[in-house]
Amino acid sequence: MNILVINCGSSSLKYQLIDMTNETVTAKGLCERIGIEGSNLVHQPAGKGKLRFEKPMPDHKVAIQMVLDALVDPEHGVVKSVDEISAVGHRVVHAGTNYSDAVVIDENVKEVIKICYDLAPLHNPANLMGIEACEAAMPGKPNVAVWDTAFGMSMDEKAYLYAIPYEYFAKYSVRRYGFHGTSHKFVSGEAIKSLNLDPEKAKVIVCHLGNGASVSASIGGKCVDTSMGLTPLEGLIMGTRSGDIDAGVVQYICNKEGKDINEVLNILNKKSGLLGMSDGLSSDSRDIMQAAAEGNPRAKATAEAFEYRVAKYIGAYTAAMNGVDAICFTAGIGENDKDVRKGICSYLGYLGIEIDDEANNVRGELRVISTADSKVKVMLLPTNEELAIARETYRLCK
Ligand code: AMP
Repeated sequence: MNILVINCGSSSLKYQLIDMTNETVTAKGLCERIGIEGSNLVHQPAGKGKLRFEKPMPDHKVAIQMVLDALVDPEHGVVKSVDEISAVGHRVVHAGTNYSDAVVIDENVKEVIKICYDLAPLHNPANLMGIEACEAAMPGKPNVAVWDTAFGMSMDEKAYLYAIPYEYFAKYSVRRYGFHGTSHKFVSGEAIKSLNLDPEKAKVIVCHLGNGASVSASIGGKCVDTSMGLTPLEGLIMGTRSGDIDAGVVQYICNKEGKDINEVLNILNKKSGLLGMSDGLSSDSRDIMQAAAEGNPRAKATAEAFEYRVAKYIGAYTAAMNGVDAICFTAGIGENDKDVRKGICSYLGYLGIEIDDEANNVRGELRVISTADSKVKVMLLPTNEELAIARETYRLCK
């Protein structure tokens, strides 16, 4: 059974075709600049080189048709006809309080995606465009929504409610939702399998450290807490997002700089984090780490703050679960930067954690990086959100 996985942005469309008999990717690619001059598709069949096609893509419908044409092309295609694709799995960011699990898309689901536009104004409209494009190009084919917010729906009230007037939750569902849920669920599940932990009771902390970054705590694969909130702004220090901040800072900067709330929120989302703290040096952690190693004081303070914030969350989540069996690092920084992993774990000696430097000297490979004596297992576990989406789609459509 072949599942097509789609991740739509406002002007982009990423895809993978996954054969679920052995969970292998048969082709993948990316459409960029949809609706903008210079649209192009980069298509890569498994084991072959990348092919680039330049053709106007005025909207997502044209983009998806180009993807399907590439997938069935006699030369560089991987299936004979679109009939060989059984279902389509879509990443959808926000479901509000409406869904705590993936769901086959019908008109009601599309309505929920629209109702949640206010909660994810950049993502939900693009996600719906992708869904409608697939419906038009492949009538009758099941489409499945796999929500970023689904994992966080198992949090208790004590974890998800903000300490603000209850009426805002009652009226507008203002609460903590959490994001990167597909990744957190996948990584915690794989950690339980690979470490042979109790699937009902295992206490796992996942540090998803990429350009966007979040931590989650789960017991038996069910989310207990996660660091992002109503929006992906809360929590860790990220590439350009501030993470946790005293809301009073917003008012203070508004008053001092004569800016309105939207302008300051834009600064907190797009000009803060690694970029802001390093005084504009870079939002890319590689640049920050390199500059820190070369002695740049702003980069050094930024790198230290990034690791410190992750370590604080690990401490808080260990307390929330009254223990922890495994800590996993994933995403761009978590999978690639041994120094960041080591730096974070240097705060965790009180948990009996010891890192094996030789094992930690690795990139993008599932591996235990703690010593045999370490009381808590620490792992590098590459995330695979596309496979997670394909698995959910397969489960609902097989
Ligand atoms: P992601 O959002 O998961 O793609 O992660 C992006 C982040 O991962 C950026 O801050 C990159 O600097 C970081 N990253 C990607 N590759 C590497 C690498 N080889 N070494 C260190 N950091 C990396």
